[in-house]
Amino acid sequence: MKFIVDVMLGRLATWLRLLGYDVLYDRSMDDRQLIRRAQEEERTIITRDTGIARRKAARHCIFVTSDRITDQLAEMKQLLGSSERPLRGRCTQCNGELVCADNAEDIRECVPEYVYHTYARFLRCRKCAKVYWEGSHYRHMKETLQQVLR
Ligand SMILES: [Zn+2]
Repeated sequence: MKFIVDVMLGRLATWLRLLGYDVLYDRSMDDRQLIRRAQEEERTIITRDTGIARRKAARHCIFVTSDRITDQLAEMKQLLGSSERPLRGRCTQCNGELVCADNAEDIRECVPEYVYHTYARFLRCRKCAKVYWEGSHYRHMKETLQQVLR
């Protein structure tokens, strides 16, 4: 399932990428462009904008009503399903696919020294090369997700 997210839902876009969904989020797109891209790429629109949700062209559309991220995730609970999905599916910056960084030496210059020594597993974005590891921020997000999706 692929999504396109309106400008008001940037944080939700980040979360969905962490969950591994292919999410297009581009602040420069206007409503018409957003709907057109959704059609071209067969993406489900996620929006808080009634103007977008009401348009006929926006056929596959999820309308989110709350403005808190945890509530938004809860609204999408049915779609997201179990909380057992692995986090870190896609790059939160650019939506690129994440792959295991096998060679730890390559990672060394990309992360702080203590991170390199503390964590064993790293992921790297195929597109922008951003490096990810399972730090405290990651654990916090995982806990939040488990609470929301329970
Ligand atoms: Zn990236």
